[in-house]
Amino acid sequence: MNPQTKAVYDIEDLRRWNETTAGLEPPVRLGVFGDPVAHSRSPQMMGAALVALGISARYVRLHVGPADFPEALRMLPSLGFIGVNITIPHKQAALGLVDSADDHARAMGAVNTVLVDGGALRGSSTDGPGLVRAIREEFRLDLRDLRVLVLGAGGGAGRSISVQCAMEHCARLVLVNRSRDKAEALASDLAPYFRSERLEGPVDRLRVVPWDFAALHRELADIDLIIHTTPLGMNRGDPSPLPESALSPFHVVYDTVYAVEQTPLLAAAAAVGARGANGLSMLLHQGALSFERWFGRSAPLDAMRAGLRSTSSERPPGV
Ligand code: NAP
Repeated sequence: MNPQTKAVYDIEDLRRWNETTAGLEPPVRLGVFGDPVAHSRSPQMMGAALVALGISARYVRLHVGPADFPEALRMLPSLGFIGVNITIPHKQAALGLVDSADDHARAMGAVNTVLVDGGALRGSSTDGPGLVRAIREEFRLDLRDLRVLVLGAGGGAGRSISVQCAMEHCARLVLVNRSRDKAEALASDLAPYFRSERLEGPVDRLRVVPWDFAALHRELADIDLIIHTTPLGMNRGDPSPLPESALSPFHVVYDTVYAVEQTPLLAAAAAVGARGANGLSMLLHQGALSFERWFGRSAPLDAMRAGLRSTSSERPPGV
């Protein structure tokens, strides 16, 4: 009988990998490390891509805690892995564990994609570049032309997105976070990207604003794109992080939450006639960029999109 793939593998499985995965066809060659990881949609998306391109490899969830993560990562070359994705809470630790990291990963202070290159682990970060592609696809806009407000700039996703906006030399960047000190710390890291010989106008190109309605309301008059990066909207009954009255029809709203089609923030945007999109496209494009890193070819976006939209019980073969 062909053995069944497990929904989630753990560190003990990795230690006895040959035994655990004996006879699995196609073999496990890719995965995502996280803690927790059971709800990751990456296996649906990557499995669909592998099937679409006829690649004989399987992508699985790998549940490993922080204490075991370094050992798990170092095992990959000897276990025949092509690469892995890294998610919460290991992205920062991974940067210190890989043999080399690309510019994005170093600037973000985090790795979300590892390529196994012989015995070496090559790290990269595709979150920020994935966002650039998502904004282009959803709104036909380029970050570099936009005045951007990041709501939740102190978290992991908020930081990656803010760094990407700075690297793209966006017209203006406003950082907002519930714990203001984290946004202040990020602003000092990003300040070098915004130094210029030009005389700046009355509005600072890089600014931290407190999360209070009056301050946000004033600031939003000089903003084109609002990117929301807190978990608000993931759970039923969550409030919108911004009230309808703070939004205007000229705003473009990107909500990185993808658990529901229309988050409370997107509902508020729609109510005032502003354009909006949820985080599924960022998830898709950061995954497509990981795929390109592993296989050196374009990712099958349509198949991956369909994989993402399927429920976990409808996983395609090969996952
Ligand atoms: P994280 O590192 O834990 O950061 C959470 C952020 O949200 C922090 O800035 C935190 O503020 C803020 N926050 C949490 N609860 C809040 C509340 N009740 N009110 C206001 N602010 C609150 O998490 P993360 O990895 O950045 O992920 C955050 C969200 O981004 C996820 O839930 C997910 O929906 C989304 N995401 C999407 C993608 C994608 O591909 N679309 C990728 C990654 C993440 P403090 O600093 O004050 O605690």
